Amino acid sequence: MTVIQRVRVHFALAGILAALAVQFTATAFMPTIAVDSYQSVVTFFLTASALLLMASFLLERGERSSFLLRLRGDLLRAEIEDNARLDHLTGLFNRRYLAVMGAMLAGRDGPYPIGALLLDIDHFKHFNDTQGHLEGDRCIRLVSDAIRAALREGCPNAAAFRFGGEEFLVLLPGATPVATQTLGKGVRHAIKALGLPHPGPGPAGIVTISVGTAVAVDPNAGGLDALLAAADAALYEAKRLGRNRVCGAPATATPHSPDVDGAAPAP
Ligand code: GH3
Ligand code: MG
Ligand code: MG
Repeated sequence: MTVIQRVRVHFALAGILAALAVQFTATAFMPTIAVDSYQSVVTFFLTASALLLMASFLLERGERSSFLLRLRGDLLRAEIEDNARLDHLTGLFNRRYLAVMGAMLAGRDGPYPIGALLLDIDHFKHFNDTQGHLEGDRCIRLVSDAIRAALREGCPNAAAFRFGGEEFLVLLPGATPVATQTLGKGVRHAIKALGLPHPGPGPAGIVTISVGTAVAVDPNAGGLDALLAAADAALYEAKRLGRNRVCGAPATATPHSPDVDGAAPAP
């Protein structure tokens, strides 16, 4: 029981006490047993019981500590895996993980079409220079939280990455050009609605973002790199046109749907 089945110490103690009681009583009632033989039997069984109890205790302690060590190892492995995948400031996926997940998504068997949003905080250098880097970090965190919240509502299977310092990338598996643009507009409005004060040249003194959108429809058309290049070109165009707006890559933009403050609403 104690060594082979490894019962818990308290069960082993109860079992041993019961066995000793039976053993001692049965031996005491043997008609021919001498007193010194009886004492030898008692000494033998008490010693054996003490050794078995000690073995039971040591086995249980060993099992408990190896369980704790295994648990600690699992937690450490999970933490290392998270650190390898997540950006420490925002909790979004990091750029390293983009290489893995993005390539998987945009491979030939990926969920086409795949939409992409490339988002960049406007005039962020000025924000940092005037407010300090700690406030800058806080701003990046709040913007990433707003992106996450907007995606949760608009596209739960989206994957958001911190692409660079104040740049973010969102991949939208299965999103059409219209859905991609709609989501880009939603995110831009969500960040504007935060109303984070920005002392720079932005509109009404608040933090805004520019967004470039692109959609990959053909698995044979260059994969993730081509998709990112198209979104980057669209983001560049949004910056060039004055920032705080969403622009679509020419091949995939939804016609006549500008998203910039003051523009006529999309038909
Ligand atoms: P634009 O509107 O054209 O995007 O202008 P910008 O000033 O936002 O762009 P620029 O590339 O000139 O500056 C980006 C700044 O972002 C520079 C750098 O100080 C800041 N930055 C990058 N990473 C971090 C970060 O992790 N924390 C903080 N606080 N600032 C960062
Ligand atoms: Mg930038
Ligand atoms: Mg910027």
